[in-house]
Amino acid sequence: MDILLVASELFPYVKVGGLGDVMAALPRAIRALGADVRMLLPAYPALRAAVEIQGETAISPDLMGGGPARILKAEAPGLPLYLLEQPTFFDRPGSPYGHPEDLARRFAALAWAAAHLGRVGDAEGWRPQILHGHDWPAGLMPAYVAYGDGPRPATVMTIHNIAFPGRFPASMLDDLWLPQSAFTPDGVEFQGDIGFLKAGLKLADRLSTVSPTYAREIQLADGHGLEDLLVQRHGVLRGILNGVDRKVWNPAKDPHLFSHYDLKHPARRAPNRSGFQRSLGLQEDPHAPIFASVSRLDPLKGLDLVLDNVDHLVLHGAQLALLGQGEPLLEAAFHQAAQRHPGRVSAFIGYDEALAHRAFAAADVILAPSRQEPCGLTQLYAQAYGAIPLVRRTGGLADTVVGTSPETLADGTATGFTFDEANGWALGEAINRTLALFRDPIAWRQVQRRGMAADFGWESPARAYLDLYTTIPLRGA
Ligand code: ADP
Repeated sequence: MDILLVASELFPYVKVGGLGDVMAALPRAIRALGADVRMLLPAYPALRAAVEIQGETAISPDLMGGGPARILKAEAPGLPLYLLEQPTFFDRPGSPYGHPEDLARRFAALAWAAAHLGRVGDAEGWRPQILHGHDWPAGLMPAYVAYGDGPRPATVMTIHNIAFPGRFPASMLDDLWLPQSAFTPDGVEFQGDIGFLKAGLKLADRLSTVSPTYAREIQLADGHGLEDLLVQRHGVLRGILNGVDRKVWNPAKDPHLFSHYDLKHPARRAPNRSGFQRSLGLQEDPHAPIFASVSRLDPLKGLDLVLDNVDHLVLHGAQLALLGQGEPLLEAAFHQAAQRHPGRVSAFIGYDEALAHRAFAAADVILAPSRQEPCGLTQLYAQAYGAIPLVRRTGGLADTVVGTSPETLADGTATGFTFDEANGWALGEAINRTLALFRDPIAWRQVQRRGMAADFGWESPARAYLDLYTTIPLRGA
C-alpha cells in the first residue's frame, strides 16, 4: 500500500506541539508494518538543511500566487520525504503558523501539492493510492482531489485539534484555486467562510481523531461548529490513540537527563529532582512533592485552574514548576505566582525541549487540567518517566489515565488522578487526593510503577491506521 502523509510539523525539525511528535513516529511505525508510507511537508529551512535532497521536480510556475514551486525528494532517517519548496512562502524562520498575510495560500499550496502527487506521482513514477492529511493545514487536500481532474487517490483526514479550523474569507476562493462550485455546505463553505478543516472532514473518504473519547466529544458539544457534520460522518470516523516514541522518550537512555533510571532502578531518578530544582531556582527540598506542567498556554489547556491553586499547593508544602508559552495574560500570571513564592514556584516562559524531558524525570505529578484534550502527550510521557499524571477527565486524558480510587488501588490498575468539573475547586480537591497518596510511599510507588510499565507504543496505533486504510475501496490506482 502506498500512502502519503501530509502535515505541517515534524519533530525534531519543526515542532509547535504534539503534532510534530506524532508525525515523527506514526509514519515510521506504519512503514515498519510493511506499507510504503512517505511524507509531504513544506521545505522549511530547518528541515531542508537537515535532510539529504535526492531530486527535484517543478510543479507550478506560480502556485497560489507564491511564485515557482518544486517538490524535492528527500530522506530523513527511516522516512522518505517530499518537501514543497516555495521560497516566498516557506523559506522563513519562526513559527510555521506565523505570517498571516499568506497563511491560507501557503497551506493551500501544500494541500494542492499533495493532490498533485496523488494524481501525477513523483519523477520516478511513485504515486500514492492514499493521501492522509493532518489538521487544517492539510484540510483542502481532499477538496483539490474532489474538484480536480484525473485519477482520484483515496483521502483520509485526521483531526489532531478541532479548535483550529483554518477559517478564511470567502473572497479568497480564486486565490486558493477553488471553483465557485466548491463554495457550498457540501464543499468548502463553513459558516459563510472557507473552512480548511471543514472541507477535509466533509470530503475525505475516511476520518480519524486521536482518541475514542474525543471522537465522541466532538460530535456532541466540543466540535467548534463541526458537530453536525461529524455526526453525519460518524460511520467513517475512528478514534485512534497516539503513542509514545520510546526512541525519544525513554528515561533509561534520555540524553537530556541528569541520571538514567528505569522500572528496576527507581532510586536513580532522585538526581533528576535535585538537578531540576537547582536549574529552576526551586529549593532543593527532597520531601516536597513537585507538581509540574509542560504545556502551550492556551485557554483550552485549563492552566488557569492551576493558577487558582498556586497558594493551595504552596500551603501544603508542594512545589510548582510551569514550562510553557502562549497567551500573554497566562504567562504574566505564572510569572507573578513565581515572584510571590520564590523557591516554591517557578515559571519558565519559553519552549525548551531538554527542560521538558527533565521536568518529566523530576516531577512527582504532571498536571494536565485541559478543558478539551484531543489526546494529550504529556500525561503519557509522565507515566513513562515515573511522574503521576493529574488530569481532567476529557478526551484522550480520559482514555489514558486510570484514576486512583480504593477499587483501582486494590486491583492495581490506578495510574493517576482525575477530576471532572473544569474549575479550580475540582482541581484543588484532586490535588488533596494526590497529596494524601504522596504521604503513603508504598501506594505511591505502586501507581508510579503501573504507569511506567504501561505500553503506549506506536505499533498498535499504526495497525489501527492500516486497518482504517484497508476499509477504503481504492479507485483506479
Ligand atoms: P498540544 O499538541 O495540544 O500542544 P500535547 O500534549 O499533545 O499538546 O503535546 C505537547 C507537546 O509539546 C509535548 O511533546 C510537550 O512536551 C511539548 N511542549 C509543550 N510546551 C512545551 C514547552 N514550553 N517546551 C518544551 N516542550 C513543550
